[in-house]
Amino acid sequence: MPRLQFTKPGIWIVPFLSMISVVCMAQAPRPEPVTDQETELGQAAFNELRNKGEIIEFSPLYESLKSVTETISRVAQPRYPHPFKFILVHEPKPNAFATPGGNVYVVDSFLYFVKNTEELAGTLCHEVSHTIHRDAMNRLKEQQRIQMREIGALILLPAGLAELIAVSMIGDLNSLAYSRDIESSADVTGSDICAAAGYNPWGLVWLFQDFQNADPKQIPQLLSDHPANTTRIQTLEQHFRDNPDVFAKFNPDPKSATPFSLPKDTSEQFLRPSAEK
Ligand SMILES: [Zn+2]
Repeated sequence: MPRLQFTKPGIWIVPFLSMISVVCMAQAPRPEPVTDQETELGQAAFNELRNKGEIIEFSPLYESLKSVTETISRVAQPRYPHPFKFILVHEPKPNAFATPGGNVYVVDSFLYFVKNTEELAGTLCHEVSHTIHRDAMNRLKEQQRIQMREIGALILLPAGLAELIAVSMIGDLNSLAYSRDIESSADVTGSDICAAAGYNPWGLVWLFQDFQNADPKQIPQLLSDHPANTTRIQTLEQHFRDNPDVFAKFNPDPKSATPFSLPKDTSEQFLRPSAEK
């Protein structure tokens, strides 16, 4: 068997090391090719966020996110026809939001905001549930009742409309909560997904409890439906009690939580607005 001889390490070690650094700096997933109105709107939303310079293309933070998102995707994916992708963005307030087509956006500061892995998992399970329930699509259809009825039969939207809708959709996702019923429904489906993925579904309850008495300005949008949080907690607790075979094994005590650890290197490289159309 021939032996490999590295007589000139300087020649191969440089590309090898740069390869390692690329592998460590996990890359932001890109949207799926456009095949229907959901992927079209998802792509338009991605383009809008990219044009605002908010999409984090490379960051070691993706590595921390990946173990949670891969586990959740395995359970959630059979319930939705387009692949779930989790994309880090830099925005002023910690938040997470889902657009049609499978993309889930996580604001970088949200990773520092959660107190443990279960709170992060609970939030992501909640967001994929909005996608599975098609809450953003349904709200768009309500808001744009006439136009959407006219174009409902089309596979793709008329030129320029997806971009227009995406701008208002992103504004909405950052400023308006869904109705309490829609939120609670995403909480319940999210808790089922988290439980099936092996994450303690009490994580979302802990997140609500942490911020029940916090300054509303400091609360992420996804939690800002303030008085309703008590109702959302009650709905979740009832769901846990009604399904003891699924939920009784999980510990409601936040002291049992798993710490969520971030890498030492939290550098971020942004996807350039001009990178691709
Ligand atoms: Zn929500």
